Amino acid sequence: MSESEAPHPSIVVPNELKNNVFVTTLDKLYNWSRKSSMWPMLFGLACCAIEMICTAASRYDLARFGMEIMRPSPRQADLMIVSGTVTKKMVPQIVRIYNQMAQPRYVISMGACATGGGPFKEGYNVVPGIDRYVPVDVYVPGCPPMPEALLHGILKLHEKVEKQSITNVAWYRNPESDMIPVPVLGPDLFDPRRAPEIKAKLAERLAAAQTVTTPVAEAVAEAIPTPVVSPTPTAPAGPTRLTPEEIEARRQAALTKRAELQAQKQTQTVAASAAPVATAAPAATTKAAQIEEMRIQALQRKLELARSGQGKQTVAEVEKLLEEARARYEKAKAAQ
Ligand code: SF4
Repeated sequence: MSESEAPHPSIVVPNELKNNVFVTTLDKLYNWSRKSSMWPMLFGLACCAIEMICTAASRYDLARFGMEIMRPSPRQADLMIVSGTVTKKMVPQIVRIYNQMAQPRYVISMGACATGGGPFKEGYNVVPGIDRYVPVDVYVPGCPPMPEALLHGILKLHEKVEKQSITNVAWYRNPESDMIPVPVLGPDLFDPRRAPEIKAKLAERLAAAQTVTTPVAEAVAEAIPTPVVSPTPTAPAGPTRLTPEEIEARRQAALTKRAELQAQKQTQTVAASAAPVATAAPAATTKAAQIEEMRIQALQRKLELARSGQGKQTVAEVEKLLEEARARYEKAKAAQ
């Protein structure tokens, strides 16, 4: 061991002993033994657990860290890998298992779900991170994290363990400090540790509500006027009665207006009848020509029937009528 690798500058190893003597600190030995035999708790919550199981398989070889066997009891485990979506229903169980694990105990939050809710963050039944309930030592990102990522997280946890000292770790000084009250699952998850805070906020709100009650009531009373109740019932308001003079004045006004309207209408009729005189003739002659044309067509059909012997009139009679119609048609056409 070179001098730079000596655990402390005050420890000097003679050169002749350097190949035979191993000098280290108690912390280093203690931490080395802890990190090399970390026993994970055997449990998974969702899809991330599949990746955790892969990590324990032969390809990734967790045995090199002394972690090859996942422990089925929290009493034998000191590492909790929270792998998967943490639902509110599971939180009390997770916290209970954490409390039952041997100290010193560590927690790895594996995947987006365990760390912050992941894709279910806004879900009514998912907690936004397990670190709200148990202390997390290492977060492994990903959805899901690959086994390599979990191995990296484990190595990071080893680094953290190596930095701890037996002289100041919490579990030797105050063993009770690490126990976490188990959350209660009711209509929602309730963390007993927040009870004083919740009570204080409730008291605040109650006090605030009491102070604002009077102004609000006053404001409401001002906004809504009190209905006036008349002491004696009065007759319902109806249309005002007119005097005979007013009725006569209104009648005269209506008569005058009607006379005016009639005069106006007559004026318009005269103007309309005078103007179209010049143009009425062509319209009338056009209509007469059309009538004669239709009549000619009808007489032609009658003539055909007469010639075939089915008509009521003789051929001579129909021919005479046809001739007359043609003459009228020519006349009407000429007049256009
Ligand atoms: S982080 Fe992704 S893979 Fe892991 S439990 Fe959540 S959804 Fe599944």
